[in-house]
Amino acid sequence: MEPNIRERIGIVRERIERAATSAGRDPASITLVAVTKTYPPELVAAAIAAGASDLGENRVQEAASKIAALQDVQPAPRWHLIGHLQRNKARLASELFDLIHSVDSLRLAEALSRHMPTGRRMPILLQFNVSGEESKEGFNLPGGIANQAALEAMLPEIEQILALPNLEIRGLMTVAPMVAEPDQARPTFCALRELRDELARLFPQAQWHDLSMGMTDDMAAAIAEGSTIVRVGRAIFGPRQP
Ligand SMILES: *Cc1c(COP(=O)(O)O)cnc(C)c1O
Repeated sequence: MEPNIRERIGIVRERIERAATSAGRDPASITLVAVTKTYPPELVAAAIAAGASDLGENRVQEAASKIAALQDVQPAPRWHLIGHLQRNKARLASELFDLIHSVDSLRLAEALSRHMPTGRRMPILLQFNVSGEESKEGFNLPGGIANQAALEAMLPEIEQILALPNLEIRGLMTVAPMVAEPDQARPTFCALRELRDELARLFPQAQWHDLSMGMTDDMAAAIAEGSTIVRVGRAIFGPRQP
């Protein structure tokens, strides 16, 4: 059964509004990225028609065929890459996406910068694993800024990413561990915000505004901790087929 996408997006927007308001934040400061991975183009088209302006995919190949299938849909959405990017797909990714959330190494950043068409700079987020969970991607910084030695060791790499000509850092992204209660994800989101604040202090030449954090189950906790971009799939499109 096809879920009522318009209604579901409305419910998600209400959840965002409630979470923002109770945190004393402006709901308009939070961007909803509708995560379309595994869902067919017809459902994605329905989401666009219902006002979804930002869409997220976690694999380049799947995104390429979906973006092609939806190329005539108006208004044209912005596409976000939220999953791991391999260097050999950097060129294709540079052509498809408007924001890449998952930059997790200097070598990947270099490949992306090299492949950008002249005159274009790709907005990126640096993905961090601050929870210490082993399966998570991203720069590995378990414990966040409390882990001073590890943070200091990665600063030269971050400084080199900042110096790349065709990239533009906008902030940080993380995926919280799966937890029984959404509030248990808060320390992870808090750690990402503190890390963002520290990097903004150390590298004031860059823009560190965005915090991409929060998904279907934990978006309220993420918003309470300062998320500016939530990535929501199932709450809009229903359960994913395995
Ligand atoms: C799939 C995915 C999401 C969306 O998850 P839902 O639980 O469906 O809301 C968000 N972020 C990333 C990185 C994902 O891979």
